Amino acid sequence: MNNSIHNVPIPVNEPILDYAPGSPEKAAVLNAYEKMYNSTIEIPLKIDGKEVKTSEKASMAPPHNHQHILGHYHKAEAQHIKDAIASCLTARKAWSQMPWPSRASIFLKAAELIAGPYRAKINAATMLAQSKTVHQAEIDAACEFIDFLRFNVAYMEEIYSDQPLSGEGLWNRLSYRPLEGFVYAVSPFNFTAIAGNLCSSVAMMGNTVLWKPSDHQVFSAKIIMDVFEEAGLPPGVINMVFGDPEMITNEVLQSEDFAGIHYTGSTTIFKAIWTKIGANINRYKTYPRIVGETGGKDFILAHPTAHPQAVATGIIRGAFEFQGQKCSAASRVYLPESIADDILDRVIADMDSLKMGSPADFSNFITAVIHNGAFQRLKNAIEQAKKDPQVEILKGGGYDDSKGYFIEPTLVRTTNPHYTTMETELFGPLVTVYVYKDEEWSNTLQLVDGTSPYALTGAVYAQDRYAVEEALVALEDAAGNFYINDKPTGAVVGQQPFGGARASGTNDKAGSAANLTRWVSPRLVKETLVPATDYRYPFLG
Ligand code: NAD
Repeated sequence: MNNSIHNVPIPVNEPILDYAPGSPEKAAVLNAYEKMYNSTIEIPLKIDGKEVKTSEKASMAPPHNHQHILGHYHKAEAQHIKDAIASCLTARKAWSQMPWPSRASIFLKAAELIAGPYRAKINAATMLAQSKTVHQAEIDAACEFIDFLRFNVAYMEEIYSDQPLSGEGLWNRLSYRPLEGFVYAVSPFNFTAIAGNLCSSVAMMGNTVLWKPSDHQVFSAKIIMDVFEEAGLPPGVINMVFGDPEMITNEVLQSEDFAGIHYTGSTTIFKAIWTKIGANINRYKTYPRIVGETGGKDFILAHPTAHPQAVATGIIRGAFEFQGQKCSAASRVYLPESIADDILDRVIADMDSLKMGSPADFSNFITAVIHNGAFQRLKNAIEQAKKDPQVEILKGGGYDDSKGYFIEPTLVRTTNPHYTTMETELFGPLVTVYVYKDEEWSNTLQLVDGTSPYALTGAVYAQDRYAVEEALVALEDAAGNFYINDKPTGAVVGQQPFGGARASGTNDKAGSAANLTRWVSPRLVKETLVPATDYRYPFLG
């Protein structure tokens, strides 16, 4: 019996370790990296807490060394998806009744495991699977993931505490039921933290989950599952499957118990899934919750009063960190004529010092892009830009896939503000600059707003406060996360809840109470303490 009202620990953001030469964290992560690099692993599906091996396997290799096999993962067949759905429904019976402090405790323990004994492992796995530098791995797989877990527990408490008023003689109570059925989580390759959050945020609220990680993140997804299990997550609460995404999704969407999807990935795929859900709507017992964070074409806009060096640093970090493979990465830049050359000279000077190579060499700022598809997409865009008279490659433009999928950080200038690289999400280290006439500032705001179908992140650099105010109004719908005098990447859980609108997603703000409310279906209970016994109201007399 637990007769108390609990307060969860007050969350704080996990400090970022610096991995400086000689630091214990540097030794630990390199040791874990070496061990993983020099062994091979087999990763089965995880259904009902059991390892499930199948007849088809796929290999895993680091993008920065694509001929080096890290191991194999098993690919599901249709029956495995049916089994995983059955496991979700069975596990739901006990999990949905588990007292919330116990659910909180499991995920708080997971956070502590990542902060401590699993930190080096999950970072090393992310460096290998997704070719992140140690800093990019640390801010993602360790810190952001820990923050998601700790802050979401606090948001869960906040949601449960939200109760209605009660009139005289009665008591109104809201209980936040898990959804009826199971939830499908589909995660992208680019953030280990997003993968962990997409499934755990839903499970935390009492739901059971069928989780399909990206084929290009399986290696680090396995560590996430290991952590959840060690933290005490019961079998079947999160079932992890790999394989043909279309087949898996079709199986999932045919189930009458499909209660929602928590998706992050590209816009086209999300729209296709939404269309299928619509076509299947008569199958479902309940209207499915559809939550998706999708693509971006994120901007940096400098006003003539901007500090040139601040803009240049924003471009370098915003466009090139993690090879531009952040949904929030700056990929279109608008500079005023009066300071454009000054800013571009500074960017080019900084680009001269960017080293590219394996993340195991800590002096590298840039590593490889995720896979051959991404390499070809970027190579084609660069080749096209080389031919196009409206475009000039100011820096970079090289590529080499002989060992890993390496694309040089590339700075492009165009005279056409609607040039394809100003509009299309390329998801790589290529940034396009358009120079506008200073007196065209207000028109440029309209241009920025109307150029792309996306509305994820954007940054305005200006010292003139009237210009900042004008931009805040003109670009109100152009970005879900809007930055003033800062790069448009690097949202921190608990500080900058993240998400965009238009073609960038449903804007349910990952890392906020708003997101968690999508995974509950409130039930209101009204209890009348002394019931009425006469139907007549006084006015009748
Ligand atoms: P992706 O769209 O290739 O894959 C995302 C997920 O969808 C993967 O698990 C993939 O296996 C699955 N998938 C692929 N084809 C499918 C199909 N036919 N049916 C169902 N599922 C399918 O994306 P990615 O390359 O892994 O990630 C990059 C994309 O994600 C970019 O567009 C980026 O902007 C977006 N992203 C957005 C956010 C955000 O918060 N808005 C965050 C991270 C990434």
